[in-house]
Amino acid sequence: MKVSVLLPFYNEEAQIPITLKVVTDVLNELSFAYELVLVDDGSKDGTWAALEAASQSYDGVKAIHFSRNFGKEAAICAGLDYVSGDCTILMDGDLQHPPSYIPEMIRLWAAEGYEVVEGVKAERQTESVFSRWAANTFYKLFRWLGGFDLQNASDFKLLDKKVVAAWRSLTERTTFFRGLSAWLGFKRTTFEFEVGERTVGRSKWSLRNLIHLSSSAVTSFSARPLQIITILGGLCVVGALIMIIQTLVMYISKQAASGFTTVILLQLLIGGCIMISLGLIGSYIGRIYDEIKDRPRYLISKIAKSEIEFANKSIEHSQ
Ligand code: UDP
Ligand code: MG
Repeated sequence: MKVSVLLPFYNEEAQIPITLKVVTDVLNELSFAYELVLVDDGSKDGTWAALEAASQSYDGVKAIHFSRNFGKEAAICAGLDYVSGDCTILMDGDLQHPPSYIPEMIRLWAAEGYEVVEGVKAERQTESVFSRWAANTFYKLFRWLGGFDLQNASDFKLLDKKVVAAWRSLTERTTFFRGLSAWLGFKRTTFEFEVGERTVGRSKWSLRNLIHLSSSAVTSFSARPLQIITILGGLCVVGALIMIIQTLVMYISKQAASGFTTVILLQLLIGGCIMISLGLIGSYIGRIYDEIKDRPRYLISKIAKSEIEFANKSIEHSQ
């Protein structure tokens, strides 16, 4: 049995030696062979040099370098295309997903037969009130529109090789790993973990990135916003009918007031609804355009591998 550990890195040169030391220390305690799949998401600092050095000093390392920054989703996709283990553990490269949970994740998979083991964030106390509110609002919206509850979900997961194979069969260009891994199904369980503190560097997510991820998460999962437009349009028509009747009644009873303000307000309201609706339809067409171009999810410019393919504890023990 072999365990693959997949770690994405973007501008993490100072973090890499620390992360690899902690992760391999945990893995060496286990009686499983393992490999490390390390993805450099087009970093601009010494990340690639650090990963190349790791492939020299550790066994079982496969390092991949992207031609530019494609984002964490693409890094996850690349990693999942390259893993060869019986299960794959996916975690952040900054130790915010504590490796000390790895033995428990592997136990749930190997002993209890779960095919997906998902980390659920215990609390979000370290985050600001605004980011907690934004995350919760997004998850509520996503549950309503997309139909999957991802509250406190994280990318800290163990996937059986069957699940990885199923993931590889998905052909869409724009992925939303958290949502799609829920969509895949399989026998799943969760465990709660405390998000670790970042020791080196800072978070790579900007507000713009998060908004982009949220909107592509919703548009890739659900066409319900388009149905809501139809409902809004219907409500406007019903409102207009009621006003026509009211106006006629007023006219007949000779009480008609000058309705200029109402006309302007209605113009604004309906104009606004139409523009929002067009924008929404536009964003779905944009998604179709992105998908239809059929470009690869990522481009690899360099690969580095260790001399010894797997760090095989079980072989060491039996020799
Ligand atoms: N990451 C990446 N590509 C990016 C941004 C981030 O591969 O474009 C990696 C990053 O190096 C880290 C992980 O994704 O290992 C999580 O990123 P980060 O810590 O910045 O996010 P946060 O913990 O704030 O959600
Ligand atoms: Mg982080």
